[in-house]
Amino acid sequence: MNTIEITEQYSMKAFGRIPLTEAKAKNCICFDENGKKYIDFGSGIGCNVLGWCNEAWADAVCNQVRTLQHACNYYYTKPQAELMEKLAKATGFKRMFLGNSGAEANECAIKVARKYSSDRYGKERGTIISLVNSFHGRTLATLAATGQDVFHQYFYPFPTGHVFAEANSLEDLQAKLDDSVCGIMIELIQGEGGVCVMDQEYVKAVRKICDEKDIILIIDEVQTGGGRTGTLLLQEQYGIQADVTTMAKAIGGGLPIGVCLVNEKCEDVITPGTHGSTFGGNPVACAGAVAVLDQLLAPGFLDSVMEKAAYLRSELEKMPEVTELSGIGMMIGMTLKSKDAHDVMLQANDAGLLVLTAKNKLRLLPPLTITKEEMDAGLAILRQLLA
Ligand SMILES: *Cc1c(COP(=O)(O)O)cnc(C)c1O
Repeated sequence: MNTIEITEQYSMKAFGRIPLTEAKAKNCICFDENGKKYIDFGSGIGCNVLGWCNEAWADAVCNQVRTLQHACNYYYTKPQAELMEKLAKATGFKRMFLGNSGAEANECAIKVARKYSSDRYGKERGTIISLVNSFHGRTLATLAATGQDVFHQYFYPFPTGHVFAEANSLEDLQAKLDDSVCGIMIELIQGEGGVCVMDQEYVKAVRKICDEKDIILIIDEVQTGGGRTGTLLLQEQYGIQADVTTMAKAIGGGLPIGVCLVNEKCEDVITPGTHGSTFGGNPVACAGAVAVLDQLLAPGFLDSVMEKAAYLRSELEKMPEVTELSGIGMMIGMTLKSKDAHDVMLQANDAGLLVLTAKNKLRLLPPLTITKEEMDAGLAILRQLLA
């Protein structure tokens, strides 16, 4: 049996996979088991932010694997310390908790909001408002916080205390606000929801409401963070800072890591014994993340992301089949005039291009290290498919 057949025989059927076995890759070029070549416009859903097998990242990871691969959190490790110091300095957040995925980071964020509130106001103030069409993860609490009915099936009973407000509607948010609310949790661009961008005015107003009512503003930057939109965190472009923010996908450069960052207000919420993770802050993942941060923060790198995004967007706009482009920077949603995004994705695979979909849009999350040649090669395939 081949890789696909074995996987299909033994894995739980969680994923509707595409029949393609990724075997070997470098930067934005991947080869399948048969040696067929693909240009990558998806970066493993935004995780391979420095492309595949980036040299400095691979060196950092391999050196760490051979030095000290795991330490339990009863002890300290240097890669953890280095990552946290760099991330705090680069983002302005005071403290963080290191976990292993976006969902875990969001679980931590929900716990921080609830404990902040219970420490001050008691038990009856634990409601989290999140937005309709959001996506926050696959654990039970993050599913409960995800504002899409399709995710609220089968796994009853779900954790309670989750309420949804329409995205970009202050009116609906005001209507849902009551004395039980301890946190408001938003994505600045709803990624899985279809690359839908939140309005600047709306986000600023949400920040103000949270300040006035001592509600914790949680910004889920699991997909938008890590340089994807041309800044380390997208909230920088909104001119605000969350009380709690989460990062995952890109920051690991392809290894599992999730980070929940808190500002001064929340810095003392988590106390010994109230949160934890066996693998969280794993030194190999942290050493990789340090290498990712070093490259993202190198002078000129994030500017180059914006330049690449501008080039890609200007070329995509010229395609008559593309009626609308959404997103910011290298997080791109494409609305198609008559073609089905899922069909186009499958055709693109056949033609040697990896792309994603989000709802009814094509979604591009290219590695931020993509070269002009790689962009042009991918664009040529898209141009032909969308002709
Ligand atoms: C991917 C994603 C998550 C979940 O991350 P996992 O690492 O899959 O748990 C949460 N929030 C957003 C916005 C995401 O894009």
